[in-house]
Amino acid sequence: MSLQISCPHCGPRPVEEFLYGEIPVVPDSITDADARDLDRAFMRNNPEGPQTERWFHLFGCRRWLTLRRDTRTDEVMEAG
Ligand SMILES: [Zn+2]
Repeated sequence: MSLQISCPHCGPRPVEEFLYGEIPVVPDSITDADARDLDRAFMRNNPEGPQTERWFHLFGCRRWLTLRRDTRTDEVMEAG
């Protein structure tokens, strides 16, 4: 069985119904505005462990949801 995402509006749904979006976190050490834009657009943190993510329920309610997912296990710890 594939990963299930619990949508607060639709209930547990297969991950294939969603689009994934990472919330960009630009380090404070980058102060130049252009460099911050480049970092936000292209650099991914790819952490090992819990991270906060945005998911769009494309083939469902078409709403955004925020969840905490452990990237090592795909366990969803919080959804809202
Ligand atoms: Zn939904």
